[in-house]
Amino acid sequence: MNDLKSHAIVKTHELALKGKNRPWFMRKLSDNLRTATKGAGVEKIWKGQLMVGLTLADEECWPEVKSRLKEVFGVAKFYKAYELPQDLDGLKARIPEFLEGRSFKSFRITTNRADKRFPMNSGQVNRDLGAFVQQLTGAEVSLKYPDLSIYVDIQTSGFLIYFEEVRAHGGLPVGVSGKVAVMLSGGIDSPVAAWQMMKRGCQAMYVHFHSYPLVDRTSMEKAVDLVEHLTRHQYESNLFMAPLGEIQKKIILTCPPSYRIVLYRRFMVRITEVLARRNRAKAIITGESCGQVASQTLENIAVVDACAGMPILRPLIGANKEEIVDMAQNIGTFETSILPDQDCCSLFVPKHPETKADLDTVLRLEEILSVDEMVAEAVENTERRHFTSPEVAEPAR
Ligand code: ATP
Ligand code: MG
Repeated sequence: MNDLKSHAIVKTHELALKGKNRPWFMRKLSDNLRTATKGAGVEKIWKGQLMVGLTLADEECWPEVKSRLKEVFGVAKFYKAYELPQDLDGLKARIPEFLEGRSFKSFRITTNRADKRFPMNSGQVNRDLGAFVQQLTGAEVSLKYPDLSIYVDIQTSGFLIYFEEVRAHGGLPVGVSGKVAVMLSGGIDSPVAAWQMMKRGCQAMYVHFHSYPLVDRTSMEKAVDLVEHLTRHQYESNLFMAPLGEIQKKIILTCPPSYRIVLYRRFMVRITEVLARRNRAKAIITGESCGQVASQTLENIAVVDACAGMPILRPLIGANKEEIVDMAQNIGTFETSILPDQDCCSLFVPKHPETKADLDTVLRLEEILSVDEMVAEAVENTERRHFTSPEVAEPAR
């Protein structure tokens, strides 16, 4: 089939439901597909009915294009398609070649006539081609559970024929839901939370807190690796490295040990919020799950939320640790997340953290601190790192 032009045909599911926003969503998806496949041998990107086509320079490009497309959110499934002239007899002549090496007892033909000038409608093509394949192979037609699905798309440029689907993550194209600020530790949970929000169409900016030079840089290095990995879903990321050490020192001087963690958290959220607003992010994301550790009780969550002026979303709130670990393994962040590090949260951690923090107590403790200045100073000393993916890509618009 080397003589035929080949394409990747990308299909979405949810996008179809979005009514008036659909053209914009499809445009965003095409833009993302263009960036994701840069340097992988895609000649042209074109839009069809509820699908996007990527014309391949040659068939050799397919494995690389395939592995890139799998990571593009908004793609539900995709196919490798061959293009033939708009001629049914010509298609039939090539069918034995297409079916070589495939064993199936039942099949179905699914035709879509995008070019309404084609003289046969999709039902007629299904029946005509179905009878031909049945005669050729002896296989039965099964509309419900076919062993093999044969898709024929009638485009103005010609027929597209394709078979097995490759499943992708679905979701929404990154960018259509706006921006979020992910609080990214070097741990297992927060990268998974980031992934889930990107899957729902959010562009993530990342904020990592460190206590360097009170501890080493290992957690920062892990955050860099994680953002590098996660950027392949959104092509461009910013990672803000915010210093927490000075704040922690002030907290341990004035506050009871049991309240340290909840106070650290409130400072983290305040700093994240300032950075989020500056970068037009509309919500803060964490990797917390209900009851997982002492600081993640409903009481403590409420006390942390009370200092925030924007929503704090916790996509993993109902997930078990094993479920999160499974997801981290599938996403590819697990190996980095479990590397040993010196995280800022492990610094000056009390033996018995408060599990039911009381807001009045917290507010009284914060009165002794110059909260606004501490936040401003940390923001001032925050460093930004910029990431792009794939390496060849220009920064996304
Ligand atoms: P994770 O696996 O994401 O580190 P965790 O189970 O270790 O989560 P905590 O340490 O209580 O839980 O952290 C809860 C959430 O707070 C994290 O998921 C993350 O969103 C945020 N967080 C914790 N430490 C940091 C940090 N150093 N920098 C940025 N955010 C952090
Ligand atoms: Mg952690």
